[in-house]
Amino acid sequence: MKTVFKTRMGVVEAIAGVSFHISKGETVAIVGESGSGKSVSALSILRLLDSNGEVTSGKILFNQLNLKDLTDAEIRKVRGNEIAMIFQDPMTCLDPVYTIGDQIIETIKIHEDLSKKEYKERAIELLRLVGLPDPESRIDAYPHQLSGGQRQRVMIAIALACRPNLIIADEPTTALDVTVQAQIMQLLKDLQSKFGTSIILVTHDLGVVAEMADRVVVVYAGQVVEQSTVIDLFEKPEHPYTEALMRSIPRIETDRNRRLQTIKGNVPSLKELPSGCRFHPRCPLASEKCGTEEPPLFKVGEGRESKCWLAGRDLKVKREAADK
Ligand code: SF4
Ligand code: MG
Repeated sequence: MKTVFKTRMGVVEAIAGVSFHISKGETVAIVGESGSGKSVSALSILRLLDSNGEVTSGKILFNQLNLKDLTDAEIRKVRGNEIAMIFQDPMTCLDPVYTIGDQIIETIKIHEDLSKKEYKERAIELLRLVGLPDPESRIDAYPHQLSGGQRQRVMIAIALACRPNLIIADEPTTALDVTVQAQIMQLLKDLQSKFGTSIILVTHDLGVVAEMADRVVVVYAGQVVEQSTVIDLFEKPEHPYTEALMRSIPRIETDRNRRLQTIKGNVPSLKELPSGCRFHPRCPLASEKCGTEEPPLFKVGEGRESKCWLAGRDLKVKREAADK
C-alpha cells in the first residue's frame, strides 16, 4: 500500500504497517475496544512506546519526517513543539506539588523567552482560552484543588502552550461525567477551528466519534480493520467488527427497550493472536476460510478500506441471515 503526501501534516503510519494521513484542521478518530491497540498506535506516533512494544512496524511519518529514524533529542523536540498529547487521567500528568500556573509556565518557557510577568500573563490567557473560571486566582491552585473537568482544561492549556500542529487525545473525557465530557469536546472543537490544529482522537466511544471525527480508523488486535469517513462509516460499516461496535451502542430514541448488546468474547492478547482473521473467533459471519487465511485490507471505495473477506458485501443482510 502506497500513501501519498497530499497534506501539510503528511502521513502517519502507525500500526501493523498501515498508514493514515491527517490534514490540517482535521480530526481522525482511532476507535476500538480497550486492548485493541488504540493507545499503542497513538503512543507509537510519538515513539513513547516501551522498547518491547508489539506494534512498532511500519513508518511513522509526520511533516515528511520519519519519526522512527530521529534521534532521541530530535523526537523530544517534535513531541514538545509540534505534537502534544492529552491523556485520559490528567492527574497522572500534572505534578501534585506544583501549582498549575508553574506547570503551564514551564511549558511556555520551552517555546518562548519572556519576562516573568509576561509568562504569567500568557498562562492566564491560556487558562481563559480553555474556559477555566477565574483564571487570575486559579493560576495559583494545585491540581488537587480542581475538579476532574478543570484539570483536563489545564492539560489542554498545557498542550496549547506548545502551539502544536497536532494534538493526540487519548480518551480525554472518559473519566469525566457526560456534561463535562461534552464541554471538553466542544472546547477541543473550538480550539481546532481557531488554530487549525489537527486532532487524533483515541476513543472507544462511538458517540464521541460521531460528534468529533472527520475520518475514522477502526483497530482490532493491533491492526487497522476499517478506515472510512465518519459519514460513510455510520451509514454502512464495511467490517463486521465495526458493525458489532455500532450495535453495542444503545440508541435511546428508537431502541428504548432494547438490551445493550455487547460483542461476545474478548479482544485477543497480542501474544496469542488467532490464525487467519484476528476477529474470526468473535465474528458472527466467520467462514472456514476466515480461520486460516488472513484477509488483506481491501479498498472498498474512495478512502475506504476493510480488512474482511466480505468487504463490499451487505453485512446487515448477511448478519441477519446468520442470526436466524
Ligand atoms: Fe468476520 Fe471473516 Fe470478515 Fe474476519 S474475514 S471479519 S471472520 S467475515
Ligand atoms: Mg487506552
